Amino acid sequence: MEPRQLADYVDGLLEAHAFRDYAPNGLQVEGTRPVRRLVSGVTACQALLDAAVERDADAVLVHHGYFWKNEDARVTGMKAQRLRTLLGRGMSVLAYHLPLDAHPRLGNNACLARDLGLTVTDTFDTGTDRPLGMVGEPSEPLALSAFTDRVAGALGREPVTVAGGSHAIRRLAWCSGGGQGFIDHVATLGVDLYLSGEISEPTVHTARECGLHYVAAGHHATERGGARALGEHLAERFDLEHVFVDIDSPA
Ligand SMILES: [Zn+2]
Repeated sequence: MEPRQLADYVDGLLEAHAFRDYAPNGLQVEGTRPVRRLVSGVTACQALLDAAVERDADAVLVHHGYFWKNEDARVTGMKAQRLRTLLGRGMSVLAYHLPLDAHPRLGNNACLARDLGLTVTDTFDTGTDRPLGMVGEPSEPLALSAFTDRVAGALGREPVTVAGGSHAIRRLAWCSGGGQGFIDHVATLGVDLYLSGEISEPTVHTARECGLHYVAAGHHATERGGARALGEHLAERFDLEHVFVDIDSPA
């Protein structure tokens, strides 16, 4: 199928039009190849593009694409190299940022719920057009150490943890990626723990002083689910070949 058709379908599925975002969502780079083979990944970095070329892919589907607000608009250096790789091969880039955090089934936060065995009970306001963050429960109360073990097992890396007390986890909130700044709002929700991707210096003090456990499980690690789930969905829906390629990142 044509890249534009595929993007139109995903735009509708994720209701991409409903989000004001930091980057354009949808077809960011239009290649000439019809899409039969799709590579998905977290970020459209050069290593992912090289992996896509190696697999003779027609399109790349990512959570972190290009053309971010306030970035230098010139096509030079790293950006020029990435675009040369794509345009030289006729390969497209489809990128979905906030819409792929928020989607209730295929989104990063929905995938975290599934991977961590959590039941979603609510969402919380993240100041975006639609809420990205989720609130939910484990099937039974968990000690903080049991929860972090579960996170490490599910995401394949040890999280950075700040204990906000000695309480067990009955209800928690989570938001993938760089969602640590929402901790002040989460502290008003009456949950036991907040999980996001990154940690900043003030996050530690907010967690301790508000009696809220905080778990930074990795920006990259918490955002692998969405692109993979969406790629798998598209493969099934349109009979495409699909592979998720994880370009490891310590961030
Ligand atoms: Zn992100």
